[in-house]
Amino acid sequence: MSKPLRVTVWNEFVHERELPEIRAVYPEGIHGCLRSFLEKEQDITVRCVTLDMPNQGITQELLDNTDVLIWWSHARQEDITDETVRLVRNAVHSGMGLVALHSAHFSRIMRDLLGTTMTLHWRHGDREKLWCIDPTHPIAQGVPACIDIPEEEMYGECFDIPRPDDIIFIGWFAGGQVFRSGVTFTRGRGKIFYFQPGHEEAPVYQHPDIQRIIINAVRWAEPLCRLPAPPDNVEEH
Ligand code: ZN
Repeated sequence: MSKPLRVTVWNEFVHERELPEIRAVYPEGIHGCLRSFLEKEQDITVRCVTLDMPNQGITQELLDNTDVLIWWSHARQEDITDETVRLVRNAVHSGMGLVALHSAHFSRIMRDLLGTTMTLHWRHGDREKLWCIDPTHPIAQGVPACIDIPEEEMYGECFDIPRPDDIIFIGWFAGGQVFRSGVTFTRGRGKIFYFQPGHEEAPVYQHPDIQRIIINAVRWAEPLCRLPAPPDNVEEH
């Protein structure tokens, strides 16, 4: 059997602990929900870490043993330390895949890797139709042309991101806005997928089509080859 794809789910884990109505949606935490469907895949192993753990859950040893990191954050974006940002950035540059979910767009991790403000328009309490506009993309395999998300936070353009490699999904919201909801980037050797759905107040990650997209994304983001961590990857001239 080939080597398993090693996924680490890194969750901020604040809302699910502090707010009973969100704990009711995700009793095991958002990370627990993500783990539960990912680990059903034969070729995927899953480890979960949270921001309240030592070193914010992130160490060099962990990243060296992670093929794809999934990151969900919202309330504590500014608390991510320079050292954590550095470790994740270097891992992505060396080839680790990164799947950033929902409000993680505005994390220090994503702003550092992509270099723009990552700002957008948002509004509480909307519904979304998630349209697939690139059905041949690996992340879209087995995904319907349109997914109805009955309860979702509105994220609207203009989304201040650099020009993506691929735009796979466009979200339409009942309030009239549209959004580039599933986009890819490459930084160094690392593949990055940003995926908008997943507001914590609704069970979006329990939707089988949303789960399919995230499973596809981790397989797509798996590194084909990985450089050693810096400073060893600095080539001499
Ligand atoms: Zn949200």
